[in-house]
Amino acid sequence: MSGIWQAHLADRLAERETAGLMRRRRVLESPQGPEVVIGDRTLLQFCSNDYLGLCAAPELAEAMQTAVEDWGTGSGASHLINGHLRPHEELEQSFAAFSGRDQALLFSTGYMANLGVIEALCDRSTEIFEDRLNHASLIDGARLSGARLRRYRHNDLEHLGLLLAASPAPRKLVVTDGVFSMDGDMAPLPELAALCAAHDALLMVDDAHGVGVMGPRGGGTLDWFGLSQDEVPILVATLGKALGVSGALVGGPDWLMRALMQYARTYIYTTAHPPALAVAARAALEYVRQGHASRMQLQMMVAHFRQGCLEMGLPLMESQTPIQPIRVGEARVAIEAARRLEESGLLVPAIRPPTVPEGEARLRVTLSAAHSMAQVDRLLHALRTRVLPLL
Ligand SMILES: *Cc1c(COP(=O)(O)O)cnc(C)c1O
Repeated sequence: MSGIWQAHLADRLAERETAGLMRRRRVLESPQGPEVVIGDRTLLQFCSNDYLGLCAAPELAEAMQTAVEDWGTGSGASHLINGHLRPHEELEQSFAAFSGRDQALLFSTGYMANLGVIEALCDRSTEIFEDRLNHASLIDGARLSGARLRRYRHNDLEHLGLLLAASPAPRKLVVTDGVFSMDGDMAPLPELAALCAAHDALLMVDDAHGVGVMGPRGGGTLDWFGLSQDEVPILVATLGKALGVSGALVGGPDWLMRALMQYARTYIYTTAHPPALAVAARAALEYVRQGHASRMQLQMMVAHFRQGCLEMGLPLMESQTPIQPIRVGEARVAIEAARRLEESGLLVPAIRPPTVPEGEARLRVTLSAAHSMAQVDRLLHALRTRVLPLL
């Protein structure tokens, strides 16, 4: 039965295995947190996106537990049929108020939000401009829309300006990550917004790694730069990273959100999020609103880590966010470095091509407000004794 398919897939997998690119999962025997149990070992991890330590926070768990009692487990239908429950409505309104936007829509994941928004807005007469390092979901959304996709060099405003000026398209959409997930740097949003205004292009920011973390109020990169809905009309905030739950909110002006509700297929043709998740996400937003202290803690951790790395001369990349990659170069060096760290009880992912360009393999350290200073020191010590000698 289907020998052709079996042989085809076996060949593809063998190729991947030979190239050393096979991905494998690990089973966590504990909740997400700085220390996780894998097999019979407790490892100190610097890989998760749980930047505020909310994934296993008792406040959120309690809110979710109560919500399950009040609202049950499932929503039972899509939002536009009859699965839009009070907790969904309240989460959307809370986020709109929090982010200074007219309206927000709740999607089941960030991936679906990005596919849905781009596909809903764009068609063959649109031209989409995306940063080379944008998240896969933003690229896939553009492909799905059938619009012409142009990719500009990472954070290169001059390149983008040339492409915009040369575009004959009647409608232009510029899309960028707020914080770039593999590099940890931020997009130059004020300049991007000005460029978009000059070319009458719509700007969309996917702030998956910024919301909850960056900015004086935890509003993300827009908050960091002090930008409003007029300057950045489309904001995507995911709920599965700093906010410790799951899902995504898209916020923007009325004229835009009304259209998204009608045309975003990933919003329309899917079951609404479980209402208890919406309650937990709202509790997470409230935590962020009052979470100035944990953001300060996180920024202190980042500063401490950076100082330690720079003092020992590690090739740390330029980043002000909790994503702190160390560029080691060769893929095999990155893999060996990660292996040595794991031997010492530390989990840090090696990121290799094709996820990053050839020769730019890195250790991608992510810090969380839940890490203690002593834990960051343990990482610095292991980097000094086990990784530095490799470089
Ligand atoms: C994680 C991520 C997404 C996807 O969000 P999910 O809610 O995990 O589907 C989208 N964009 C960026 C930049 C991300 O880092």
